[in-house]
Parts: sequence; C-alpha cells; structure tokens
Amino acid sequence: MPLALANGHFSNTIGFSRNYHSDRYEIRFENFSFEFNMELTYQSFELQLKHTFTIAKFSRTSTPVMLLQIAHEGYVGYGEASMVPYMSETYETAFAFLKKVDTTHFKYPFNFEEISAYLDSLAPGNTAIKAGIDIALHDLEGKLKNKPCWQLLGSNPAQMPVSSFTIGIDTPEIMRQKVLEAAEYKIIKVKLGRDNDKEIIQTIRSVTDVPLYVDANQGWTDLEKSLDFTYWLKEQGVLLIEQPMLKTDRDSNAWLTERSPLPIIADEAMQTFDDVERAKGAYHGINIKLMKSAGMYEANRMILKARELDLKVMIGCMTETSCAALAGAALAPLCDWADLDGPLLTSNNPFVLPEFVDGKWVLSGESGLGLKLL
Ligand code: MG
Repeated sequence: MPLALANGHFSNTIGFSRNYHSDRYEIRFENFSFEFNMELTYQSFELQLKHTFTIAKFSRTSTPVMLLQIAHEGYVGYGEASMVPYMSETYETAFAFLKKVDTTHFKYPFNFEEISAYLDSLAPGNTAIKAGIDIALHDLEGKLKNKPCWQLLGSNPAQMPVSSFTIGIDTPEIMRQKVLEAAEYKIIKVKLGRDNDKEIIQTIRSVTDVPLYVDANQGWTDLEKSLDFTYWLKEQGVLLIEQPMLKTDRDSNAWLTERSPLPIIADEAMQTFDDVERAKGAYHGINIKLMKSAGMYEANRMILKARELDLKVMIGCMTETSCAALAGAALAPLCDWADLDGPLLTSNNPFVLPEFVDGKWVLSGESGLGLKLL
C-alpha cells in the first residue's frame, strides 16, 4: 500500500449512508493475488446560498448536491455532483444513475478514458453525477499515489489565475451592499441579460473600480445594440463577456465575436468535448465547468483541445462545496481565467473552505484534492 493517509470520513452530521453499494474485484498475477474492493457511498445534500441567486432566466435559494465517497483499502476519495435546476439532473436521476454503477469497473491504477466510456455506456447525459464519480476517483488516485491532483494534471500552482466573484441581480441597494461585502475579491462577475444592464454596471461602478466580467446568460438579442454595448462595457473596465446570445444562435455569437473589442466566451453553448471544436470561429474562448464536462478527465481534454484551436479558456463552476471547487482549482492554472466562487456563495458548505489569498485559491501540497473535513 502507498504511504498516503486516508482522509477519514464525513462527520455524522452530514449523515452519509454507508455500505450502500459494494463490489469486489480480483486480479490474479502469476504468484500474487491483489483484491480490489471499491466501495461507493453517497448522500444527497441541499446546498444553501447566502443570497437568493437571480440570473437572466430564473432565481433560486439552494442547489441539490450529491456528495460521494469511493473508498479503497482505507483511502477515501471525495466527489460532488452539483445539480443546478436548468441542467435537468435531480436527486432522483442521480440515485437512478448511481444504482447502475458497478464499481468493479474502477480498477486502480485508474484508466479514466475507460471509466468515462463505461459511465457513458450506462446512460447519456447525467454529466453532474458522472463528474461526482470522476472527482472522487481523482481524489482517490491522488491519495493512493500520495500526490496532489494538480501535480498529476500538470498544473503549476504559481500560475493560478485570480478567481472572479459573482454578484447576482438584485435591487441597486442590495447590489451595492453585496459589492461592498466583496471587497476581498479582485474581479467581480456580473450577471446581465435583462433590460437594465447599463444601470447594473453603473450601480456597481458607484462603489468599486475592480475589473469586471460580464455574463449575459444568452439574454442579448439585438446585434448592433449589443456591439455598441461591448464598447461601452470596455470603457467601464469590463474584461470579457460570457454567452451574449442564445447558445443555439451560433451566427449571432460569431458576428459579435468578430467585432467585439472584448473577448466573447461560450458558456451555455459549451457542454462537452465535442462542443469545443464548434466554438472555434464563433467565440474567442470557452467556459469549462466540471458539472457539464462530466468531470476532471473530460475537462482536461477540453482544455488541451481548446489550446490546439487557439481558444482562450475559463474554468467555471456551479453552486458547489469546497470539493468540486478544489477539483476545478486543480485545473485552473492550465486556464486563462477562473470563475470558481461556488463555495464562497454558499452558507452550509460541509467542508473546510480552502485557503483563498489575494483573490486566488491556494493549492496545497496535500495528496488528492486537498479537501479538508470540518
Ligand atoms: Mg455563465
């Protein structure tokens, strides 16, 4: 056995169901017999938001999350599936998917290409719960190898980008208050895409001059008006624009990308590996999220593909605990921009908040994800 120490177990307050699913696998070499026993356990968890979160199309106050553990010989890998409502996964779909999983397919050393194909063979889509499994296996792999995930992925912590912090749409008074409370963050991301976009930027500019990212969440419709607005946003210290037009309207996004003085980033139009190639010519860059890519293995492939195509890369997140945020942070040094504020926006994160210094997540030398239990 490697020398890494297991990370222990979740506290009872989270209420993990144990021994839900257990399988055994045996490999025989000539004179040896190694037995593999991977135990997958999971628990639903309602992750509460500090503030009601409003974007162009809806509002919410919490997010259903599935917390997973994959245990092997006393080592425990932690994973998380964050199932934001608009991605159509639920506790029910996650439980149904997990019941199909046969852990004898998770042989160590892990072949993530095979594991990814196996999970896809069980059901299409379901990318968040697949990401939860992938993250747990990456954490477990790091612990078994006694190496941090970021190191196994070829990330350099010194190249960690600043992470933006999102301010949701609200009344001007509350938005000003939220911006003032966000003084420690070096970049603020603003959700636009309604009819008062200019006022929202002006409200934020009345209390801070930090650089801004703008996320229109597909809310813009008029091409010429949008183009004029990108020039105005540039004057306001905005650095990039996420998903201006409908994800299905490639031509409009491409038209704006060709003319915009600011980088235009695909988000809703960017789900899995196959979307990366389609983004070329329509966007300057892509926003990769583990819950859409189905985890770290696919996200890393998407980063490499984007680099090949000369596309910029942002790594984003959903409403997530420290677990999925650390998985994103392990890949963030390979990206141009990070938008990993998930655990900063929640009020009942069941894990220790990782170190956050000068607007950046700090990657530790701990094996695996470096996730610490409360
Ligand atoms: Mg977005």
